[in-house]
Order: sequence, then C-alpha cells, then structure tokens
Amino acid sequence: MKRLTEKELMEILKKDDEITEISTQLQEKFLNERKNDINLIIETIEKNDRKLKQALSEAGGLSLSVPSHVRLSNFTSQTRAVIRKVYNYDLPVSIREILEKTEQEIINFFIHYKHIQPALSLMKFLENNYQNTEQEVNLFRETSKHLKKIKQKVESSDLYNWIKQISYLMMGRFGEHQIIINIIPIILYADNRNFSVQNVAIVVYLHELVHAYTFLGFDKDGHQWNDSPLYNGNKDSYIVEGLANAYSVLILKKLYPETENVIDDLIFNNSTEKYRDFVNRLNFNSPRIYENLRRAMIEFKHNPSMSYQSFLNIAL
Ligand SMILES: [Zn+2]
Repeated sequence: MKRLTEKELMEILKKDDEITEISTQLQEKFLNERKNDINLIIETIEKNDRKLKQALSEAGGLSLSVPSHVRLSNFTSQTRAVIRKVYNYDLPVSIREILEKTEQEIINFFIHYKHIQPALSLMKFLENNYQNTEQEVNLFRETSKHLKKIKQKVESSDLYNWIKQISYLMMGRFGEHQIIINIIPIILYADNRNFSVQNVAIVVYLHELVHAYTFLGFDKDGHQWNDSPLYNGNKDSYIVEGLANAYSVLILKKLYPETENVIDDLIFNNSTEKYRDFVNRLNFNSPRIYENLRRAMIEFKHNPSMSYQSFLNIAL
C-alpha cells in the first residue's frame, strides 16, 4: 500500500481553488494534522477491499463480473462492471458555509479539540498529585478552567453541531460507477463519537459497496438487469438504503465484530428513518435471512416500482 507523500498531499490541497481562504486554511491544517488517520482510512479500505467484495458476493449472490461458467456458454458483450474508488479530501460545502461564520478562535480550538479531553484528564491527575506545591496546583487548576471554557465554546458552536449530525450522506456516496469516500467527514465523525477511523471507514465503504453491487452487479447466473432499476426513476430509498444496511450488518457482524459500536450508531440509531427502518424490522438471527433478503432484492430489481410494503412481505 502506498502512503500519501508530502508532495501528493500538497497537490490535493492546492487542487480546489474555488474554496474560500478560511476553508482552505482549515482544510490544510486539518489534513496536515491528521495525515496518519488519512493513511489509516485508505490502507484499511484497500486492505479489506477483496474480503468485503467476496463476502458481499456470497451474501447477495451478485458479482461484478459475469461468472466464468456463464461466460463460456453464452456470449455476453459486457462481462465486467467497473467501479472506481475515489478518495475525496474536500470540505463539504455545508461545512464551508458554517466556517465562514465561525470565529477564527473556535476554528483554531476546533482543530485541537481531540486533545482537550486528554489534556483535562492530565490536569486533574496533576492537580491531585500530593507532591505539588500550592503554586503548581493553582496553575493546573487555572489551566483546567481555561480548557473547560474552550471545550464549552467549541461544543456550543454551529460547527460542532454540524459534526454531530454527520451521516452516511456526507461520508460516502455511490453514483455513476464511482464510490466516493469523503475523508474529512469520516475523521470528524470518528472523533465526535470516539470511534476508530478504521472501523468507520469499513462501515462507510461497505455501505456504498452494497449500493454498487445491487445496482451494477451481475446475478450469479450471469443475468444483468440492463435498466438498473434499483437507482432509476421512482426509487424507493427505504428499500435501497434498507438493502445496503441489511447486507452491511450481516457482513460486519460476521467478519468485523469490532465495528459493533459504529453499526449501532450509524445504522440502527442516529441515522434517518429510511436508513434504519428496514434493519430494525429484520430478524438477523432468522435461519432464512439470506434467502428472504435475496428474494426480495431480486424481486425489486425486476419490479422497481414495487411498494415498500410488498418488499417487506417478501423480506421479513
Ligand atoms: Zn446509501
């Protein structure tokens, strides 16, 4: 795996000249400060790419290429579905707007927000150390007070509130043969919830990967749905997002139990209803879950205008 070099990082930073100065400044500082996390996200996704695709193929009976036994017997003009992976380093537009209105002081604190809690704990520890002189104790107390003020200021800002509401929509996207991984929102979300960036990256990437498979994938018998009904016209996002999260949960529970906290937060609890409704109805312990899920998915691919209720009737 190739890590980002200083030069590559600078190129990314210079790329977008439309963003305003303050956003650029923050983006630059942030990306520099979090180089390790950026590399961890990329390495995690690249390292698990094959494993995730294989698991998804098995779970859903879909594949990005026509199975070899079909290729031999039937001539098909297209044998592979191409998906590109794009790592995006920009600040989302909605956060740029907030940044324009945020005091520079808060932004500066914000960049170091992750270190405030550990610093507070350290002060508390030092305060209670019996070997300290009174002068030292006072110094630690003053520092604690100052840190708490900063913490409060950051936590009552619009910026912080925006970060609390980060969802799949901001962290990843699938469309037009591309999976886009939004690096900065992933890091901010992981910080805010105290999750590891690796675990968040896996969950976000897998969700988009399920979209890619259900949209572009060939069936295991070689069938391809040429009108790609899952994403056309009157798509029912309860079904589309429900399928993405259902397959995600199945695979994550089995292969990545360490992502449990992220699953609970991002999939079951703090997501909007169209993301969580279906998974909250599913019985993940049912012995027929794969079978029913696949039947419902295939039916939906054949009949994209089906109602959510009819989908549920097959899937549950
Ligand atoms: Zn989605």
